[in-house]
Amino acid sequence: MRVGRTVPPAATPIGLTEIISGIRGIVRGQRELDRFHSELKDHFGIKHCFLVSSGKAAFALTLLALKEMFPDREEVLIPAFTCYSVPSSVVRAGLRIRLCDLRLDSLDFDFAQLSTLLSRPSARRETESGRARSMNGMMSEPRRISEDPGDSLNRALAVVPTHLFGLPSDVPRLRTLIKDSGVTIVEDAAQGMGEAFQGRKLGTFGDVSFFSLARGKPFSTVEGGVILTDRDDIAEVLNRFVGLLPHYGFLSQLKVIFKAAAMMVFIHPRLFWLPKSLPFLKLGETLFEPHFAMLKMSPFQAGLAANWRRRLETLQDIRRTRVDHWIATLDASGGQGLYFSGARSRGLLRFPVRVRDRRKRESLLRESARMGMGIMPVYPTSIDAIPELRLEFSEETYPVAASCADELVTLPTHGYLTEDDVSALSELISQALGSTSESKVSFAQQP
Ligand SMILES: *Cc1c(COP(=O)(O)O)cnc(C)c1O
Repeated sequence: MRVGRTVPPAATPIGLTEIISGIRGIVRGQRELDRFHSELKDHFGIKHCFLVSSGKAAFALTLLALKEMFPDREEVLIPAFTCYSVPSSVVRAGLRIRLCDLRLDSLDFDFAQLSTLLSRPSARRETESGRARSMNGMMSEPRRISEDPGDSLNRALAVVPTHLFGLPSDVPRLRTLIKDSGVTIVEDAAQGMGEAFQGRKLGTFGDVSFFSLARGKPFSTVEGGVILTDRDDIAEVLNRFVGLLPHYGFLSQLKVIFKAAAMMVFIHPRLFWLPKSLPFLKLGETLFEPHFAMLKMSPFQAGLAANWRRRLETLQDIRRTRVDHWIATLDASGGQGLYFSGARSRGLLRFPVRVRDRRKRESLLRESARMGMGIMPVYPTSIDAIPELRLEFSEETYPVAASCADELVTLPTHGYLTEDDVSALSELISQALGSTSESKVSFAQQP
C-alpha cells in the first residue's frame, strides 16, 4: 500500500460550488431536473432525454424498452472487451449477450466479424415458425418449441457500438452493415461525453444513446445516467418505464451527497491514496453485477451538473493537451508503447497504450504503483472470460479482446497532473518502454 501523493487514473473534479448548487437543486426539486434535461436536449440537438441513476440503469432500461417493442428478438451484440457494466445490464434486462471481437488498431468492432454476426441469423429470418408464432401472440412460449436453434429468438435486438476512452466507434459504418430494420443501434457513449466524430457529437449517433455520469467518467454527478433518442416510438416506451422508476430515498440521497463530499476531498492526489487503500471502497475494481438499483435521477445530481457544458469543455481541453503530450512522449521513446492513431487531439478519459512485452508492461505498472503515477490496466478480462458468463462462451474465443486485457495500460489525462507529474511519467515511460531500456533501468523490486 502506498501512503502519499497518488494520482488517480481518471478524475472529474467536484468542488464546493457544485455541492452548493446540488443542495440548491434539492430545494428547487423538479425544476432543477427540468433545467438539466432541457440543456442536454439543446446541447445534443436531440428530441428526447431521460435522466436516471446510472449508465447501467440507462442501458438496461433502453434494452427493456426495446425488448417490449421487439418481443421476438433477444440478442444484444456488444464488444468482447468493454466495461463489465455492459453485460450486467444485458443480463438485468433478461436478454442474451452476443460478443463481437475488436480491431487492435481502433478498439472499435471488427467489422468483418460483425457483418457475419449480423447476417448469420438473417438466413432464417423469414422462417414460417417465427412469423406464425409472433402473430399468434405466443411469444412467451418456451424457446424449446422451436425446432431450429437459429430461430427468431436468436435474432439481434440491438448492437452496442462503444466509444472506449472516448475513441469514437464508427457508427455510420456500422449502420451500413445493418440491413434489418428491427436491429436497434444503442450507442454506448458512457466514456464519450464531450467528444465528437466527423464533426458530430458522440451520443448523437445511435437510435438510442446513453452517457454515464459516474465517478471516473468524462463528466460526473457522482452517479447518473442519461438516455438520448430522436425516435418517438422508443421514447414513448422509455417514458413509461422511466416514469415507473422509484425516486432516490432519503438514505440513498444522503449517500450520494456524502459521496460528492468525499469526491471533492479525496480525488486530490494528495489524499487519493487514502480511499484507494480502503479495500471496501473497491476503487478501480471492475465488477459483474446485474443487481443494481434503477432510479430516477435526483435533483441533487442535476444540481451538481450546474454549468456542465462549460466545465466539460474545460476538462476536455486539458485532456486533449495531455493526450497530445503522451503521443509526443511515445513517439520520442521510439519503443514499445503503441498508441491508437485515432487518439490524436482527442479529449480521452484515459490514454490507452498497448505494451506487448509482458515484462515491460508489468514493470511499468509496478513502478507506477510505487510512485503513485496512475498508470492502470483496463478491464481484467474479455467479457467471455467473466467467471459468471464463462460457460455461455466456452466454445468461442475473442483473441483481440483477450489481448486488450493483457496488453493495454492507460495513462492519466486529467487536470490534477502537475507539470512534475507529467515529467516524472514521461521519464518513467521512456525508461520502461524505450527501445534501449534494459540496460538503463533497474526497477525497484516489490517485496
Ligand atoms: C461506466 C460504463 C458504463 C456504465 O455506467 P455506470 O454509470 O457506471 O453504471 C457502461 N458502459 C461503459 C463503456 C462504461 O465505461
